[in-house]
Amino acid sequence: MTQQNEQTKAYFNASVHERDPLVAEALDNERKRQQDQIELIASENIVSRAVLDALGHEMTNKTLEGYPGNRFHGGGQFVDVVEQAAIDRAKELFGCGYANVQPHSGTQANLAVFFLLLKPGEKVLSLDLAAGGHLSHGMKSNLSGRWFESHSYNVDPDTEVIDYDNLERIAEEVRPKLLITGGSAYPRQLDFERMGKIAKKVGAWFLVDMAHIAGLVAGGAHPSPFPHADIVTCTTTKTLRGPRGGLILTNNEEWFKKLQAAVFPGVQGSLHSNVLAAKAICLGEALRPDFKVYAQQVTANARVLAQTLIERGIRIVSGGTDTHIVLVDLSSKGLIGKQAETLLERANITANKNAIPNDSPRPPEWVGMRLGVSAATTRGMKEEELRTLGNIIADLIEAEAAGKADDAVPGAKAKVAELTKAFPVYAS
Ligand SMILES: *Cc1c(COP(=O)(O)O)cnc(C)c1O
Repeated sequence: MTQQNEQTKAYFNASVHERDPLVAEALDNERKRQQDQIELIASENIVSRAVLDALGHEMTNKTLEGYPGNRFHGGGQFVDVVEQAAIDRAKELFGCGYANVQPHSGTQANLAVFFLLLKPGEKVLSLDLAAGGHLSHGMKSNLSGRWFESHSYNVDPDTEVIDYDNLERIAEEVRPKLLITGGSAYPRQLDFERMGKIAKKVGAWFLVDMAHIAGLVAGGAHPSPFPHADIVTCTTTKTLRGPRGGLILTNNEEWFKKLQAAVFPGVQGSLHSNVLAAKAICLGEALRPDFKVYAQQVTANARVLAQTLIERGIRIVSGGTDTHIVLVDLSSKGLIGKQAETLLERANITANKNAIPNDSPRPPEWVGMRLGVSAATTRGMKEEELRTLGNIIADLIEAEAAGKADDAVPGAKAKVAELTKAFPVYAS
C-alpha cells in the first residue's frame, strides 16, 4: 500500500496561518475589527459559536441536489437530518405549513418566487426603493425589474409611513399579479392585514419579504405575516442571527411542489450543506425562550437610540421606530450620509449611508444614514448603552457640522472602546 505523503497530511491538517498568511492576516484583522467596532449596519448581526462551527464544518464537502428522501446523489443521510430539522423548525417558528430552506440568499429566494408565480412581463407592485424597498423587488438594474414590469408605492410625505390608501388606489389602477411588501430601510411596523386585503381585492398574490424583521417576527416583537401573506421570504442573516442564506415559507399546499422545483432546479443547483446545518441551529436558537427576550430588547434599544438622537435635535425619519432600524435624516444638521458614515467609522462605529423617502436618486448625495441595533443587542447592550451610543453619535455629528470633527473623534473613540471592552464577542 502507498503511504499518505507529507503533502497530503499537511493539506488536511495545516492551519490557514501555515498555508496562507495573506488570507490568515485578513481573517485575524476582521475578527479584531468585529471586536473593536460597534456594528450598527442594520443588515448585520453576530452569529453564535455553534453557527460558526457548523459553517466551518466538513459537511461543506457534501454535494446534494433535490430534497430530503429524494436526492440525486448518495451519502446524504446526515445532510437529510439537518435539512429536515431546518424545515421543521422554520415551520414551527413561523407557524406555517411549508418551508423551503435551500435559497442561497434572500435575493435568490425572491427570484425563485418570481419564477414560481410570474411570467416575464407580468406586473409587480412593491415599496419604492428610497422609501426602504429592496432591489430584488423590481429595481431596473436587477433581473426582477428587467424581466418584469415593476411599479411602486410610497410612504406618505408627511408621516413617512406607508400610505395604504394610496397603495390601494395604485393597486386598483395597475392590477399587479404580485404585491410585495418588506424592505431594508423601513423602520415602522407593516400592516400585513391591510395589504393582504388589498392584494385579494385586486386579484394579486401577496409576497411578504421579511428579511430584515424575521427575527422580530420570530421573537414576537413584530406581527406575523401569516395568515395574510400567500408567500413569505426572508434571509437567515439579519435579525434572525443565522448564516448567510434565505428561506421561503407558505401555507399553500398546491404551490409547494412547484415552489420546490422553482428553487431547484429552477434557479439553483446543489444545496449548501454546511449552511443548512447552520440554518437549523439558528432556527433552533430562535425557538428558545431567550430569543423572545432578545427580540424585545432589540426594539427597546432602537427606541432609546431614536429618542436620544431626537432629543439632541437630529431628525429621525417617521419620528421613531417600531423595529431594529433608526433612519437618520442628516439634512437636519447640514450633512450627507457619506460624511456621517466616514465620521462614525473614525470612532469605530460602523453604519451606512442610505436613501430616505424622496431622497436624491444619486447615492453620493443621499442625506440619510441607516442605523440598526441588532448586533449591539446580541453583544448584550441594553437601554443605558444605547443612550450612551446615541450621545456619542450626536456629539460626532454636531462636531462635524461645526467643522470640529478632529477634536471630537478621539474622545468618541475612547468611549466606544469602553463599550466594546465591556461587551466582548467570541472569546479567542
Ligand atoms: C437583505 C435583503 C434581501 C437580500 O438578501 P441577500 O441575502 O443579501 O441576497 C432581500 N430582501 C430584503 C428586504 C432584504 O433586506
